[in-house]
Amino acid sequence: MKALLLKEYGDFVFQEVAEPEVHEGEVLIRVRACGICGSDVHGMDGSTGRRRPPIIMGHEASGVIAEVGEKVSGWNKGDRVTFDSTIYCGSCWFCQRGLINLCDDRRVLGVSCEDYRQHGAFAEYVAVPQRILYRLPEAVSFEHAAMVEAVSVAVHAVERTPISLGDTAVVVGAGMIGLLVVQALRLAGCGNIIAVDLDEGRLKLARRLGADLDLKADGCDVSKEVKDYTRGRGADLALEVVGTSPSVNCAVACLRKGGALTLVGNLKPSVELPLQTVVTRQLTLYGSCASSGEYPACLNLMARGAINVEALISATPPLAEGAMWFKRLYDREPGLMKVILLPWQEKVVSG
Ligand SMILES: [Zn+2]
Ligand SMILES: [Zn+2]
Repeated sequence: MKALLLKEYGDFVFQEVAEPEVHEGEVLIRVRACGICGSDVHGMDGSTGRRRPPIIMGHEASGVIAEVGEKVSGWNKGDRVTFDSTIYCGSCWFCQRGLINLCDDRRVLGVSCEDYRQHGAFAEYVAVPQRILYRLPEAVSFEHAAMVEAVSVAVHAVERTPISLGDTAVVVGAGMIGLLVVQALRLAGCGNIIAVDLDEGRLKLARRLGADLDLKADGCDVSKEVKDYTRGRGADLALEVVGTSPSVNCAVACLRKGGALTLVGNLKPSVELPLQTVVTRQLTLYGSCASSGEYPACLNLMARGAINVEALISATPPLAEGAMWFKRLYDREPGLMKVILLPWQEKVVSG
């Protein structure tokens, strides 16, 4: 089969590789769409240590079951599916409690690190265990389904956040996840949603996707604007989707006393925290990691059009062009958001 292989750091080749073996409990999927994740782009130069060549990356995918392995039940050849980006073990202390994102033995598809090498879905076929499969609703196209991981990350973060109907929430960072967080907050019953970013285009999109107010972080005193907007009190909630000292501090400064901050972004391994503000204003901080079983709910929201992913997809080129698109993302081409690679040349039928 053809695959996009990271042969050396920064060097992709589109080449023939062996088809994956289908072990007991697994299915073989003919991949129809696979999104390029920020973690793939950051990983391609070796800086994260989690994409050690040679590796076929790709964990945001969808496709059709091409072959069913032994001891698989309830799934058939031809089923339209997507799958969790993480292969959780299903039996550790955390998995037994449904905290699959915290599994002791989790392997991310398309990742190679010190502990394992798990080839991913930038290929014509990928084999995955049955337990991570999800059926696609008819109304969700393969390209849209490749966005479900990102949607789940946003929905999981919103579910971690203690929201009351009508709350005012600030979202710091209006990149792809931030824009999905804005939409999920609206669905969860927030009254007012304020988007904060440095990029005018993203802020415009945030407004289109449900934010009531947008603030350009370098163009105003963000926390003052938020306080003015909330009669001097501050926002009930903040979600931080960047992960740097300035952005975390901005989120903290926007909160009212007793407010809650959910941390999703983690660009930097550590940041400065205004400890006394957090303590004396009695703030609550939540971490949010990946997602934990939200895929079916997210697919349903997408099928009903309650979450718009189309606005976040920049391009859907063939997998053969993958190297060039990785480079454009790596070079931070302005305005470029999600790129979804299609391993098969024929037009993917939507819907
Ligand atoms: Zn991802
Ligand atoms: Zn586990």
